[in-house]
Amino acid sequence: MTESIFARNYKSTPYWWDRTPRPTIKQIDLPKETDVAIIGSGYTGLCAAIQTSRNGRETVVLDAQDAGWGGSSRNGGQVSSSLKPSFQELSHKFGEVRAGELLKEGMNALKWIGDFIEEEKIDCDFKRVGHFIGAHSSSQYRLLEKKIEQQPEGLRVDVNLVPRSQQYSEIGSDFYHGGIVYPEHASLDPARFHQGLLERALSSGVQVKIHCAASKIEKTGDVFQIQTESGMMKARDVVVATSGYTGTATPWHRRRIIPIGTYIIATETLEEDLVDQLIPKDRVITDTRKLVVYYRASPDRKRILFGGRVSLSEANPDKCVKPLHKQLTQIFPQLAKTKVSHSWMGFVGYTFDHMPHTGDQDGVHYAMGYCGSGVSLSSYFGTKLGQRLAGLPKGNTVLTELTFQTRPFYTGNPWFLAPSILYYRLHDRFFS
Ligand SMILES: Cc1cc2nc3c(=O)[nH]c(=O)nc-3n(C[C@H](O)[C@H](O)[C@H](O)COP(=O)(O)OP(=O)(O)OC[C@H]3O[C@@H](n4cnc5c(N)ncnc54)[C@H](O)[C@@H]3O)c2cc1C
Repeated sequence: MTESIFARNYKSTPYWWDRTPRPTIKQIDLPKETDVAIIGSGYTGLCAAIQTSRNGRETVVLDAQDAGWGGSSRNGGQVSSSLKPSFQELSHKFGEVRAGELLKEGMNALKWIGDFIEEEKIDCDFKRVGHFIGAHSSSQYRLLEKKIEQQPEGLRVDVNLVPRSQQYSEIGSDFYHGGIVYPEHASLDPARFHQGLLERALSSGVQVKIHCAASKIEKTGDVFQIQTESGMMKARDVVVATSGYTGTATPWHRRRIIPIGTYIIATETLEEDLVDQLIPKDRVITDTRKLVVYYRASPDRKRILFGGRVSLSEANPDKCVKPLHKQLTQIFPQLAKTKVSHSWMGFVGYTFDHMPHTGDQDGVHYAMGYCGSGVSLSSYFGTKLGQRLAGLPKGNTVLTELTFQTRPFYTGNPWFLAPSILYYRLHDRFFS
């Protein structure tokens, strides 16, 4: 590994944690009982908790680590409406009406998160900067063109085609063959957003118990018993909000979540002119490759944060610095000599049908599996879940009607990931 890629003060922790250190929460004794117990203190868990607590239900949130330690304080901060399957794919499975209803929920989540942040006055650098998707081949550009032309009736969104000749207005790179821009997509600082949610939850009366892993959930009569490393707690309702970190405490959910590691680097500080040249409109950026990369400028526009999947199996983030840097410089050769100041990884929760899932199983409620697009979706579906537990009809969503699929013999260890990544890598290089 070339030592010179690493900045002198290199850290293997999320860049966001420099700006928002992990919260220090007063350690509390585990309550003996509560109305609602929520496992996981990320966006899903806290958004659900804010609703239940504000609507009069005593709520305890448990986390095995620090508050927000999972995806919610370490993600790329790109906010989209992204439900992965297309209208055609969903129509094929569920019919056109249901497909439209499902995709509308993704659009609702994108609109809702901006309104929510504004109403709650959460200071988290939320901006509707727009999202540029670069076409990595001319055939992918033609597919993007088609995608715009064939937007289904009733589901049209604002989207602009950017031909290669005009690409420099979006990105200081020749890497792509043009692309598209979704102007309504946004960026935020994920750890600040989480901090804002945590403060709203605590001030609404939610009790947050950190370093307290739940190990088992059992139902006796109408009451759940939650075994934790700090003892037993009884609850009328339980929410599982563990997404990519779902473990053995909830085997039913674990069989349905595919945890996939994703890796990010942050560059050292750059000249302002250079960032203006690379990402002139402050867009969040992804591309059409199956092994997608995602990148953006930091909120102060001094660094580039660049994420993707570079290893076949899970790896130490330090080991991913060099291949991620290589991918970054393939897009921006201007950064060939730029060093990396931070690198980190986290797990996203994928699902077998590429859809998020929320509902209840034997009375245990859940929302999870946002397939890498969880900033808006987890906050939105967490809120809806909390509203349902508070008995509010506005918490209803068509997503509860989806079957949360697993596969025979899958118990939570995605052995098939390495061959799939290899396949996608070859596909990106040779077949698209
Ligand atoms: C590196 C990275 C980059 C990403 N980039 C983006 C992006 O740019 N845009 C986007 O939309 N999405 C992105 N995502 C996805 C997004 O961050 C997640 O979908 C979202 O944060 C999920 O929130 P959550 O609250 O459901 O789960 P998490 O925030 O992952 O929280 C789950 C929590 O559950 C806790 N937990 C697990 N088991 C137990 C237990 N037994 N007892 C108690 N606690 C437990 C964990 O400690 C963890 O804190 C990214 C994710 C990662 C990891």
